[in-house]
This record gives sequence, structure tokens and C-alpha cells, in this order.
Amino acid sequence: MKIRKLHSRLVFAFGLLLIVVQIIFLVSINTVLSKSTHDDIRLSLTAGELVFNLLREDNTQQLVQSSSILSSDFAFRGAIASGDSATIASALSNHGARIDADLMMLVGTDNRLIADALQTNPAGSQFEFPELIERAESQGRASAMVMAGDRLYQMVVVPVRAPLPIAWLVLGFHIDEKFAGNLKTLTTLDVSFLSRRRSADRWQMLASTLPKATALELTHTLPAVPTLSPASTLAVAGEDYVTLSSRLETREDITMVAVLQRSLHQALTPLRRLQMILLMVSGLSLLAALLASDRIARSITRPLRELSSLAEYIQRGDYSRTAATDRVDEIGSLAIAFNHMNTGLAAREARISDLAYRDQVTGLPNRRLFNDRLKQALGVVQRTGTQFSVLLMDLDRFKEVNDILGHGSGDQLLKQVGERLQSSLMRDSDTVARLGGDEFALLLPGSDAAGAINVAQKLLICLEEPVLLEGQKLIAGGSIGIVTCPEQGDQNEVLLRRAEMAMYVAKRNNSGYVVFDPIYEEQDEQHLSLMAELRHAVDHGELRLFYQPKVDIASSTITQAEALVRWKHPRRGLVPPNLFIPYAENTGFIRAITRWVIEEALRQRRIWEEQNLPLTISINISARDLINTELPELFAGLMRTYDAAPYWLSLEITESAIMGNPGRAMTILARLHAMQLHLSIDDFGTGYSSLAYLKKMPVSEIKIDQSFVTNMETDKDDATIVRSTIDLGHNMGLAVVAEGIENAATMQMLSDMGCDLAQGYYISRPLAADDFVRWAEASPWKLVRKD
Ligand code: C2E
Ligand code: MG
Ligand code: MG
Repeated sequence: MKIRKLHSRLVFAFGLLLIVVQIIFLVSINTVLSKSTHDDIRLSLTAGELVFNLLREDNTQQLVQSSSILSSDFAFRGAIASGDSATIASALSNHGARIDADLMMLVGTDNRLIADALQTNPAGSQFEFPELIERAESQGRASAMVMAGDRLYQMVVVPVRAPLPIAWLVLGFHIDEKFAGNLKTLTTLDVSFLSRRRSADRWQMLASTLPKATALELTHTLPAVPTLSPASTLAVAGEDYVTLSSRLETREDITMVAVLQRSLHQALTPLRRLQMILLMVSGLSLLAALLASDRIARSITRPLRELSSLAEYIQRGDYSRTAATDRVDEIGSLAIAFNHMNTGLAAREARISDLAYRDQVTGLPNRRLFNDRLKQALGVVQRTGTQFSVLLMDLDRFKEVNDILGHGSGDQLLKQVGERLQSSLMRDSDTVARLGGDEFALLLPGSDAAGAINVAQKLLICLEEPVLLEGQKLIAGGSIGIVTCPEQGDQNEVLLRRAEMAMYVAKRNNSGYVVFDPIYEEQDEQHLSLMAELRHAVDHGELRLFYQPKVDIASSTITQAEALVRWKHPRRGLVPPNLFIPYAENTGFIRAITRWVIEEALRQRRIWEEQNLPLTISINISARDLINTELPELFAGLMRTYDAAPYWLSLEITESAIMGNPGRAMTILARLHAMQLHLSIDDFGTGYSSLAYLKKMPVSEIKIDQSFVTNMETDKDDATIVRSTIDLGHNMGLAVVAEGIENAATMQMLSDMGCDLAQGYYISRPLAADDFVRWAEASPWKLVRKD
């Protein structure tokens, strides 16, 4: 059996140890005591034998003394001499009574009985023990243990002298139960007197202190020749006796012994009692020890159990509990160490989860945590049938800030925006997270589309407040996509994807926020497949280049044309560039398109050259192209092929394309400029190019963005911006183009403002090359031909 629990093991070990110690103790005590008891018994038997011998000797002395007194009595001797039997008898009996003798006889020299005080033997009968008289004759007296009839006597024979022996005085004590009893009183031993005739098959009990039955049994069990000293153990009537036999008298025909005994059982009784007491004490001390060890074990195992349950809590990630540290022993130190470990782990886990679930720039939840919360919200919706909304927001000017002012400022912007979003939330249950880049997401549990729109409007208002970055004020601006659950999806990815689509639509439309509409998804799918088809389009000549005229306002002459790419899709028809140029830019495929546009423009320009049409074709160059260091070589190569003069082409570059990587863009622009190509800044006014940069750039033209131009007729602010931009451009020595002119009034205003070139639907929509020439010839604008 294996004891697994420490508590049980401790109690068991203590208990076992104590039991072993107690057994050894008890066995040794028992051995010592029982040996000493045995020794005691033996000693008391030896002492008993001594006492018995002394008693016998004393008896003999008493008999001898008494008989001497009587034998020397004159009257008595006279009575013997005169044969006065009456006097003899009375003297004998008187004397006998005085010493309490049991035998009182006078024997004549002829060995015949003269008188017997007790009258057991008739006068004249033969004295049974003539050898005693013989011994008394020679030694002056004789004493012996004798059997007279069935009785044992201690007998003394002394002569009655006058002066020669005239008779023999015989005195004796009966060795009877009383004698044995006295002896027992003196020695505390059992005493038995037995005799055995040679012919007999067993002993005869003469007197004994033993119980009757035991005494009888002894006559059978005592060996015929009993071992004398040392004492030995003899079983009598089922009980052990330590036995010492003492031979009294051996005669030819009879043996007499005195047997001294002590019942082993009795002798050991006090020992047994002692053993019982010891056993009880042992038992009690064992019990006490077990209880004590139980207490000790508990005092060790309880805190250990507490620590182990604490460890389980820790393992489950619950760090709220601490171990009690009120003990000053090792377990107390262990508890303190545990608590340190607990707080250490908690801090580390908090740090880890902070790293894992918090965005380090803004301190807001990151994408992972947002996804978790979103999943939880979905669970709640499924259980309770409520709803929630997700807002996905992208900053409009983050990229510029990052590129122009550096990452530090970018981070600052994100931080400030994060704080604003956070503070504009109403409910604790709302979550703002930064998903990465300049993308923020909001989770609004319990909110429907109307509620979400409300929040979106509030956010946009709070983003209109300028952000202060390195002393510059900047409006971050944002576009927000909104989805509501469960109407518009019941999965994280679906909801986020749809929110993102709505956000892109908002960005594209410049509308601040947009609630997801399933139609966007169809469009998006189209975009995806468009991407795959785009390569096919380039390779299989599905692209077309349209031309939109740029008119010199002062001379009303068509001097330039902007080349705008179109995709003549076999099924979709003419696809506008807004639907595929951004994707081509994102994938880098724009380079192939740019190459195609340059070559197609040159090809067309060569045709116009043959037709003596000295137009400058402006080509749109995207940001991706501007980081391509091979761009100048591409131009140079293709221009060589078509034998083109530099003025054939002008390049339109958006502000943001330059600002994306100003250093590199500047190098490439410088090389293009060195090739005498005209450079123009497209969509001027929408980006954040600093005038310092602008001054350094080798451009010769700026194109005011159509968003200012189209409504300038009605919008005073726009008109002011356009006027200032024209003045600015002229002051820097640049030609100024206005694009997006849709009516005559605008045209007139621009003319009044001194704008150099005009472009817009009012003049013409972009046209295919052939249509362009046809249109130009029929238009009110002059198409100059070379002579
Ligand atoms: P953009 O370079 O600013 O081109 C001017 C856009 O304004 C053209 O749109 C033109 O059709 C449109 N537009 C001209 N006049 C008016 C007007 O009076 N009213 C209105 N509402 N719009 C007018 P389009 O052709 O759809 O091109 C859009 C943009 O796509 C271009 O903006 C340009 O950034 C890009 N793009 C077009 N072709 C190319 C190309 O070959 N290469 C590159 N990289 N980008 C191109
Ligand atoms: Mg353009
Ligand atoms: Mg433009």
C-alpha cells in the first residue's frame, strides 16, 4: 500500500516509530522483569528451603530439650524403675501437652513400648524404629523424619539414664497441614510433604498447602526421583510451578520429600498487572503521539494545501489571492516567496497582455483585443437578440504627416486622435481600438445604424478641431465606414471587411461616413476580378488613351492635351481610371500602365507630328512611378524610338506623389527636368506640400484641383482660393492651369483672374485621338498647325 498524502505519511511514520520503540521497550522491560521474577522465585525457594531446615532444626532442639528435661526428672525415672505406669503416662502426657508434641512414648530397652501418651499404640508393642534407638545409643540421641502409619513425624529419641539407659523417650511433632501452613506463612511458598514407598506407583500426599485437587495431581506428576536443587518448573494441574524438592529422609523402603513451590501464574500476576499498566500507558502515549503528530502534520500540510490551491488559482490565471504569511518558519518564507511569485507573474502577465492586446502607440486596444470584443459582442447578439455597430475609420492625412513631419509626429497624431475618439465615446461598453496604421475601429454595443451615424458625425466633428504637431496646426480628417450586426453580418471578418468597404466608399466620395450597402460588395468583387483582368488588358490592347484639351485662355488656342487612360473592357465597356488606377498603384502594376501610356502618347504624338499638330501631351505620373529610378531612362528610350522633342510631353505629378518620398522624387524629377521635360503639379491645393519644397521643385506649371474650380462661381471661398493660387503660381514664375471648368461663367472668372490655361467639360470631355482632332477643328478654340 502506498501512502500518497504527506499528512498520512507523517502520522504513519510517527506512529510506526513509536510503536517500534514501545515494543522494544515493552519487550526489554518484560524480559528483565520476568527474568528477575524467575530469579526472585528461585531465591525465595532457596530461602524457603533454608527456613524449612531451620524450622526443622528448631523443632528438633525443642524436642530434644523437652525430652532431656523429662528424662532427667527424678520422679519420672523412679516411676520407670518402679514400673509405675500411671505416673509414666501422666508425666508423658503432661509433658507432651506442654510442648504440644504429637508423639510421646516411652520405649523399654527391649524395644517394646512402655507407655504412649496418646495411646495410639498399645503398651508392650514393638517400637517401629529400632534403628533410631541404636543411633541414640551410640550418639546420645537420634532425630529423624519418620512415617508412622500414614503420618509423617519429626521424631527425637533420647535415653532415660539411671545412669545407664533404662528406657528410651520418643517425642515427635506431626508434620501436618498446620506445619505446612506455618511454613507457608513464613515463606509464602506452597509446601507439600510426600512419601513414596518403593513398591508404590505414586507419591502419597502427607500434608500440603496446595488446594486439594492440585495436591492430588502433584502426587502423580512429581517424578519418582525428584530433581532437587536447582529449582525447576513443573506443570501441575495445568499450572506451572517453580518447584524445589528437598529430601527428608531416605530409607530403603520409603522416600520422603518436602516440595516447595511457587505458582508461576501467581508470581507473575504483579508483573502481568505491570505489563497491563505499561501496555495501557503505551497505548495512551501512542494515541497521544498520533494526535500530536496529526496536529503537527496538519500544521505542515494545511498551509501546503493552501499553497497548492493557490498554485492552482495562479495556474488558472487568477492572481487575486495571496497566501497567509503569519508564520515565521520555512512555510512562512515559502508563502512569502509564493506571494512574490504571484505578484511577479501577475505583473508579467499584465505586461504581456498589454503587449499582446494594447497598441503601444495610443494605449488603445489593438486588433487582437478588438476582435475578441467583437466576438463577445457577437455572442451577446446571438444570445439576447440585440444589435451593435462597428465603425472603421481611416485618417485622411496620416500618410502626409508621417512622410513630411516624420514618424514621431505621425505617432503624436495617432495618439491625439486616439484620445479624442476615446473621450467622445458615451458608454463604458464602447470600445475604441487602433487596428494598425491610421486605422481605428469602434465597437458600439446596443447601437443601431442611426446611433452609429450619430457617433460617426460626432467623431468627424471632433476631428475637425486642428491637431497641433510641431507647432503646426493640422486637420487630421477621417473617413468612416459603418456596419451593424446582425443585419450586415454575424462574423468578425465579414463585419470588418464590410466596414472597410464602406470606409473606402466614404473616402472616395469624400463624404465623411458611409453605412455599408451590399452593392459595395458587388463592386468590390468587380474590382478584384478587374485586377486579374488588368494584366490581360495591357497585354491584349484593351487600354485606350483619351485626350482632354488644355486651352490657353489669353490666345484661345488649344496648346495641350491631357492623356487620360480608359479601359475598353470587352464586357463592362469603358472603365474610368478611378476604378482601376488606385488598384494598379497598390499592386505596382501601374508601372506597366505608365509605360503603355507613355508609348501610346508618343505614338499618337508622332501621328500628330506628321499632321503638323504641335500639341503638348501631358501624362499623369503616379507616386509609384516616382520611386522608380528607371523612369527617366524609360522616357529617354521611348522618346528616342519616336524621335520625340522634349516639348512633346509634359508630366503631371500629384503633390502627394512627391511628398510620399520627397528625396527620391526630387532626384528623379531633377533628371526628368534635365531632359527638358515639362513638369506640372496636379490636383494642387489638396495636398500639404510646403512652399519651401515647391520652390525647390523643377516644375513649370501648377494645376488647381477641380474641387476648387468647379464651384468657384457660386462658392466665394473657392473663388478666393483659386485667385490666391493663381497669384502664388505667377509670383513663383509658374504657369497656372484650372481644371474642372464646367461652364462659361467659371471660364470668364478664370480669365479675369489671369489664369493661364483652362481644362474642363465646358471645353471638352476627354476624347479618343481621332475624335479629338475632329472636335478641335470644329471647336471655337484655335488649333494651331505648324507651317
Ligand atoms: P486628373 O489627373 O486630375 O485628371 C482629371 C480628371 O478630371 C479626369 O478624370 C477628367 O476626365 C476629369 N475632368 C476634366 N474636366 C472635368 C470637369 O469639368 N468636370 C469634372 N467633373 N471632371 C472633369 P478621369 O479621366 O476619370 O481621371 C481621373 C484620374 O485618374 C486622373 O485625375 C488621374 O489622376 C488618373 N489617371 C487618368 N489617367 C491616368 C494615367 O494614364 N496614368 C495615371 N497614373 N493616372 C491616370
Ligand atoms: Mg492629371
Ligand atoms: Mg487633376
